[in-house]
Amino acid sequence: MAPTTPPPDEQILNSALRDLISANHILHHHGVVDAYGHISIRHPLNPAVYLMCGYMAPAEVSSPADLIHYHVHDSSPVDPAAKKGYSERFIHGEIFKRFESVNCVIHSHAEEVLPYVVSMGVKLKAVYHMSGFLGEKGVKVWDIDPLYKDGEQRDMLVNNGRLGAALAEKFVSEGSDAKEPEETVVLMRRHGFTVVGRDIVTAVYRGIYTRINAEAQTKALSVARNSHIDDAEAEKEGMGVGFQALTEEQVTGCKVMNEAFHDKPWRLWVREVERLPLYENTLSERKNFA
Ligand SMILES: [Zn+2]
Repeated sequence: MAPTTPPPDEQILNSALRDLISANHILHHHGVVDAYGHISIRHPLNPAVYLMCGYMAPAEVSSPADLIHYHVHDSSPVDPAAKKGYSERFIHGEIFKRFESVNCVIHSHAEEVLPYVVSMGVKLKAVYHMSGFLGEKGVKVWDIDPLYKDGEQRDMLVNNGRLGAALAEKFVSEGSDAKEPEETVVLMRRHGFTVVGRDIVTAVYRGIYTRINAEAQTKALSVARNSHIDDAEAEKEGMGVGFQALTEEQVTGCKVMNEAFHDKPWRLWVREVERLPLYENTLSERKNFA
């Protein structure tokens, strides 16, 4: 007997879950997450719910049973008997609550980004064409410390709705009631960073290229500081900072270009993780690939 075609809603959900499992693997394979860090999506059929994996390393996510449904309004599990989840899920829930247009959130402690959350006075800037999405002014840094109340454990984790809501506000100008995030990425002082996207492909692209951009900027600073050959030339051109970020006009142009080409690397990244034995995805159409 021919297999029956699943109803469209089921197809939509299965496709979203398959992509979420793949995205966990992709972010691990590309060094955006290790045993820590997480990605979530808004439920494709119910915007009041979001999905992310339970308390486990992203590389080990393999089936829908590993994913937990949470209410957007308070990040409580839809199933009260759900297994343990991430304490930092409030990052995701509060961003989904604040911005209806955001459908994917990634939180990372990628080591290449850490210099820009622990040093003072050096902004992470878009230094090449793949990262125009980082914007013209350098990436904002959010500091959790002033938000702690007396007696609270200062472990830097965004583990309640109050802290999550404060982080979500950093994606717009201070005091703004803008409905859309003005930032794509926010750095978190002495912790890591958080990325938003209208869909999973956009957010994963931004997560990976934020990491690569940070690495490129650090290397540029290092090369500049360790090389004396061109010092006179650099000084003449006013390049005292040691690296050149994209100009405002270049950022504007590259932002548009980035949006247009997200899909190409996504297809490559999915193929990569589908063929690596570390990663399992029970929903993958290629799960029997040998
Ligand atoms: Zn964290």
